[in-house]
Amino acid sequence: MTQFSNSMAQETSRDVGPVVLLGPPGAGKGTQAKRVMERYLVPQVSTGDILRYNVAQVTDLGVAAQAVMARGELVSDDLVCEMVRQRLSLKDCKRGYILDGFPRTAPQAGWLDALLDDKLFDNPRPTRAWPIVIRLDVDYNQLLLRIAGRRSCPTCGRIYNVHFQPPLVDEVCDVDGAKLVTRNDDRLEVIEPRLAAYQEQTAPVADYYHRTGRLISINGDLPMDEVTKLIFRIIEDHNA
Ligand code: AMP
Repeated sequence: MTQFSNSMAQETSRDVGPVVLLGPPGAGKGTQAKRVMERYLVPQVSTGDILRYNVAQVTDLGVAAQAVMARGELVSDDLVCEMVRQRLSLKDCKRGYILDGFPRTAPQAGWLDALLDDKLFDNPRPTRAWPIVIRLDVDYNQLLLRIAGRRSCPTCGRIYNVHFQPPLVDEVCDVDGAKLVTRNDDRLEVIEPRLAAYQEQTAPVADYYHRTGRLISINGDLPMDEVTKLIFRIIEDHNA
């Protein structure tokens, strides 16, 4: 077994606490969150995925969020926080969870701390469950290539990139043969507003965690497997 495959082995004996992955769109949060989920068997809670599901199902939340998302702007804190509160109260989050795309504004970060303070989830531990906050830093031009090249399978959710991780057959999923799609908000004209929203509203989230000494930054330009190893090490050091 290689060192990397060893480090990918499942580790399910301990709680992992909330893990928060920060970083601009295209930084690799979704890919890395899935690897944490597979290793520690805790759910990935992606606010973008939940919102897209609601848009597809035409729920009240989806109807309220659709136009905002199509413009690359952020959905209101109230709607997103209520959606996250409901998701985190489900049983599968008891051992921990990995937040991907949340918090994205300073008020959302404050709200999450208050939620964890409330021990809303019958946390039997006497201490507060501080989130492990990891930010993936990626060069701007890399981000543009990663987002513009991103394709996903509408059936199994697998993510590809036409530049860096192409499917075996152009525009077709390797796993189930479905035709790959470009996310509505990955269109070129929406990418820049999304990156601007990140700079304006999400950079203060990093400041919020930095001020309280909780921000850990990783070079997200490193190869994907290297980034994964660093994330696993941070989680394990935190729980040691
Ligand atoms: P993502 O897949 O994380 O890039 O999210 C896609 C879109 O969903 C974003 O561009 C926002 O419009 C919306 N969204 C996702 N997470 C949040 C959040 N925490 N707060 C506000 N809007 C969000």
